[in-house]
Amino acid sequence: MAKAAIIGSGIGGIAASIRLAVKGYEVTVFEANESFGGKMHEFWLGNYRFDAGPSLFTLPHLVDELFTLANRNPSDYFTYTRLDPITHYFWTDGSQLKAFADPEKFATEAEKQLGVPKQTVLRALNKSACLYKGTADTFLHKSLHKLNTYLSADVLKSLQCLPDLGLTTTMHDANKGLFSDDRFVQLLDRFATYNGSDPYQAPATLNIIPHLEHGIGAFYPKGGIYSIASSLVKLAEELGVQFRYNEKVDQIIVEGSNVTGVQTIKANYSADVVVSNMDVVPTYRRLLLNQPAPETTLQQPRSSSALIFYWGVKKEFPELHLHNIFFSGNYKTEFEHIFKYKTISPDPTVYVNITSKLEKQDAPAGSENWFVMVNVPHNQGQNWPELTSVTRETVIRKLSKMLDTNLEPLIEQEQLLDPLTIESRTSSFAGALYGSSSNNRLAAFLRHPNFSGKLKGLYFCGGSVHPGGGIPLCLLSAKIVADLAPEPTN
Ligand code: FAD
Repeated sequence: MAKAAIIGSGIGGIAASIRLAVKGYEVTVFEANESFGGKMHEFWLGNYRFDAGPSLFTLPHLVDELFTLANRNPSDYFTYTRLDPITHYFWTDGSQLKAFADPEKFATEAEKQLGVPKQTVLRALNKSACLYKGTADTFLHKSLHKLNTYLSADVLKSLQCLPDLGLTTTMHDANKGLFSDDRFVQLLDRFATYNGSDPYQAPATLNIIPHLEHGIGAFYPKGGIYSIASSLVKLAEELGVQFRYNEKVDQIIVEGSNVTGVQTIKANYSADVVVSNMDVVPTYRRLLLNQPAPETTLQQPRSSSALIFYWGVKKEFPELHLHNIFFSGNYKTEFEHIFKYKTISPDPTVYVNITSKLEKQDAPAGSENWFVMVNVPHNQGQNWPELTSVTRETVIRKLSKMLDTNLEPLIEQEQLLDPLTIESRTSSFAGALYGSSSNNRLAAFLRHPNFSGKLKGLYFCGGSVHPGGGIPLCLLSAKIVADLAPEPTN
């Protein structure tokens, strides 16, 4: 039976294992850590449960698809609900906005709370939907590095909307062109952070992202985000996929121009197909030491990273929801700090995610599990302990003021995640959350393809390669890999 070796059990690696097993491969997943999930893992601090990494879930059908592909009923393994409201926004001037799931209701609320014209809000959401419909099939579902992608009917569809693709203007300028209210522009610009980019540099094509949340919907998986990984691993194991934990891959074995297997700290394993779910930079730098590396691709600027404070808070805040955003007073300055000065703004936007709003068992009675995140630059040797200590003070001061509570004495459990920890736990180069950033119009084409052009049998999936970072795109990278992998021969 043809064998596939997968390096890493992040969400991309797990999805690839399922797709290759369904395709007929005997699949083994090698994982350096003690368990699966990569950035998508969970942990407990006392009686508080936390999803460590991703918190927002869109395009759930991409998870369902893996169960149906394996002839299973998705809801036997995994269920989720659509969020309404999606996010609760807070500005420093005291204004607030609940982003309701229904576009009409959201636009009406935006007009009522911020005074922005309802029809312009609906027009912005429509534009986002058009961008998505015109481009997703070409740019997200297929390899951008295979000729046949460009010969399909989908590409004609994309070409038709080329003037609207927004490649010649920035996301911010496009949003500013629609709205005079800086708060609503800030709300729309924030979607650039969904792939670790800067709205003042990223092309307006990224205005595709609001449609995922406001058109298709934002969802919450029962049991938390970690249940995406755990339910898929259950399926993979049922399909015969073997997971080998605490077994780090040290080398991809190459003979001539073919990959023939992997070498781990324990043994050598032969394979017809090797899929790296490890970040593409260390894959070349550490596992393919004697092979030429695609330097232009590997040197693309990395995305932003994050500083996260996991707090067990011994109080309930009825004014908060699952997703809460406390905006900075000046977004431009904030992004300059991240991408130009490579530091943390003294007035950062703060994201607070509280799963105990939906899952009471995630925190003790009368308490809440706060995942408090600030966007920060990827690691370039900054003094993280010092930046963390200053930012912690700033965040506590900001939230205390905006929520009119003294937060510090309410924090009874605490843990931290910074770019250094992200890199050491998952090998993500420089602790970037989403591989390379999308801060220029060619970024989509400069991401590493899902296959090696030089080594036969070598494929790549996960957030550092095409089509990009975030759960849905990692799932799509696995689909592209399985589509590209040859039919297994016995
Ligand atoms: P990773 O999660 O990067 O995992 C790679 C795995 O490979 C790891 O388990 C690692 O141990 C293993 N590995 C590495 N090297 C080796 C080796 N040599 N041998 C064996 N194993 C190896 N996305 C969203 O969609 N929504 C969000 O709200 C969101 N928020 C985020 C917040 C944070 C704090 C973080 C960190 C990420 C967030 N993301 C979000 C991004 C999302 O989590 C990632 O894009 C996605 O989980 C990455 O999956 P991956 O397949 O690339 O693998």
